Amino acid sequence: MTTATAHAAATPRAEILYPGVQTFSLGPAAHRHPCTDCGLSRTSDPHRCGQACQFVKPDYETLERQIHGRPRDPDRPDELHFGVFRQMYQAWLQPPRVGAQWSGITTRLAERLLESGEVEAVLTVTGTEDDPWRPVPVLVTDPAGAAYCRGMRMGYAPLLGLLEPARALGLKRVAAIALPCQTYPLRALSDELGFDRLDIIGTPCSDNTTTERFHDFLGLLDDTPESIRYLEFRADYHVELRFSDGRKREIPFLQLPISQLPADFFPLTCRTCVDYPNALADLTVGYMAGRGEQWLIERNERGAELIGLLGEELRLRAPTSAGKRSGPVQGFIDNTQRAAGGMPTRSMPNWLRPIVGRLMPYVGPRGLEFARARLEMKAAETLIHLRQSAPRRAKTMVPEHVPKLVQNYRIAPPRDPEDAPAHHRESDRS
Ligand SMILES: Cc1cc2nc3c(=O)[nH]c(=O)nc-3n(C[C@H](O)[C@H](O)[C@H](O)COP(=O)(O)OP(=O)(O)OC[C@H]3O[C@@H](n4cnc5c(N)ncnc54)[C@H](O)[C@@H]3O)c2cc1C
Ligand code: SF4
Ligand code: SF4
Repeated sequence: MTTATAHAAATPRAEILYPGVQTFSLGPAAHRHPCTDCGLSRTSDPHRCGQACQFVKPDYETLERQIHGRPRDPDRPDELHFGVFRQMYQAWLQPPRVGAQWSGITTRLAERLLESGEVEAVLTVTGTEDDPWRPVPVLVTDPAGAAYCRGMRMGYAPLLGLLEPARALGLKRVAAIALPCQTYPLRALSDELGFDRLDIIGTPCSDNTTTERFHDFLGLLDDTPESIRYLEFRADYHVELRFSDGRKREIPFLQLPISQLPADFFPLTCRTCVDYPNALADLTVGYMAGRGEQWLIERNERGAELIGLLGEELRLRAPTSAGKRSGPVQGFIDNTQRAAGGMPTRSMPNWLRPIVGRLMPYVGPRGLEFARARLEMKAAETLIHLRQSAPRRAKTMVPEHVPKLVQNYRIAPPRDPEDAPAHHRESDRS
């Protein structure tokens, strides 16, 4: 690795990680709670967190009107779940890219945006040499550099900390590959950021945790956790592991060692996140409704243009749906309520789990129905955990569409904020 100084004295020190991929030294994170260190608090004006944080008082409806031109349409029921969209697709990049989390649509979009000159840089993350799982925010300015960013990392990356270095470098047209809690502040502040173009390619996100905690989880999954290079929670109810020696393992969800994880394995932020589908992105690239392929949610005209950049490289088809979600969702809700703030308990005997694990991909909700189920589970989880741990915040942080997603399920009613047990209560400071 070499160290280079960026163009102006005021520009933070840049470190070239790979050709065309640089990171910058950032200030310390301001102590805020809840916070996923999106990077805004490390900028010269950390007070902007109060106005732009997803965890304070988000206003999704106003931003959806600004960015997509309209709010969610009640006559299109899937918009309640997935946010404003023009089209959804089941999609696959051809050929799929080595090292990508799925087929590599996300980083191929970054390459195409740079190749075509539509943007000058892409804000995203890569791993470190010491720890490929630890996300490090980077500015990619060379299309060839995007390949170093492929794959999923677990943990928080102060992506928005690179906004000021990007401006100091004189960049005007940028794209960001962002998780939902990074997308919200990007959109909330877009007018004052001063870019001529800011495209957002979003991925859905759920159940993130710190990189340290994630390593503990890998240790429970396998005897050689240091050789695990890939992990994915697939829509067919299996976790897939890939190892540095080329081995693969598939573990049914029901056989995961969830009950061995500490109650706070997933921080409150990620248990109560309100935007699983990344509703403010121009294009969301996920997998939940993809039935083994990827899932694209084209939200606005720019999202359609981004898809167009991939041309014939992208195989697109209409998403499909099968199975019924209400039973599994209610079961998840009951489990989450029983766990009372900890990890969901499992009442199923061990011998039955492999059998049910094998059956789930065939009888459980699939395609769009699986994605709807996951969105409803997440909405329930958000409400249950906020009511338990931060009841005052539940009143300001939860957009209207979230409770609507679970209005037909049995969930214990909210209690008086003062009733929250002291050890569960979270400060409403932010
Ligand atoms: C913590 C986490 C949870 C996720 N949960 C879901 C889910 O429940 N359902 C779903 O459909 N999709 C989820 N995704 C997205 C999914 O894993 C894939 O990233 C997505 O489908 C794109 O695949 P791809 O092959 O196109 O990506 P690739 O071409 O491999 O590119 C992946 C991009 O994601 C960026 N990235 C990786 N890790 C992080 C991180 N920690 N923070 C910020 N950016 C990162 C990379 O830098 C890269 O730009 C999650 C992603 C993350 C990081
Ligand atoms: S905007 Fe929110 S998540 Fe980002 S740094 Fe500030 S408090 Fe943390
Ligand atoms: S689950 Fe939500 S809060 Fe946690 S990292 Fe993902 S988007 Fe951010």
